[in-house]
Amino acid sequence: MATLFTKIIQREIPAKIVYETEQVLAFEDINPQAPHHVLIVPKVEIPTINDLTPENAHHIGELFLAAKEIALKFGVAEEGYRVVMNCNAGAGQTVFHLHLHFLAGRPLHWPPG
Ligand code: 5GP
Repeated sequence: MATLFTKIIQREIPAKIVYETEQVLAFEDINPQAPHHVLIVPKVEIPTINDLTPENAHHIGELFLAAKEIALKFGVAEEGYRVVMNCNAGAGQTVFHLHLHFLAGRPLHWPPG
């Protein structure tokens, strides 16, 4: 059974796509928590950080390179942005297909509260 994000990658479910490479897709979150809230996902299904291995860990680098490009595209690279990855239900993960949240466009306080 394909994940929700695989269905978006395969264009079976619509999403507002903001960036794409051979390895990753980035699209707007349906429930945005900031003026820019993008989900950056690998085109392969890795459920959580706990499923990373030395063989598939390169996908993490690809997600961060995409975040860098998206920040430039949105013009927020200098003012700042946040990337977050939730792991498992206790941390708020609801879609079990690895993804990086990209948040920008408003003050992002730390600690987040
Ligand atoms: P998680 O809670 O797993 O870290 O993040 C999953 C994110 O996916 C949530 O922020 C949620 O709003 C978003 N989301 C859930 N369903 C959809 C959908 O059908 N389309 C889009 N674009 N985002 C979704």
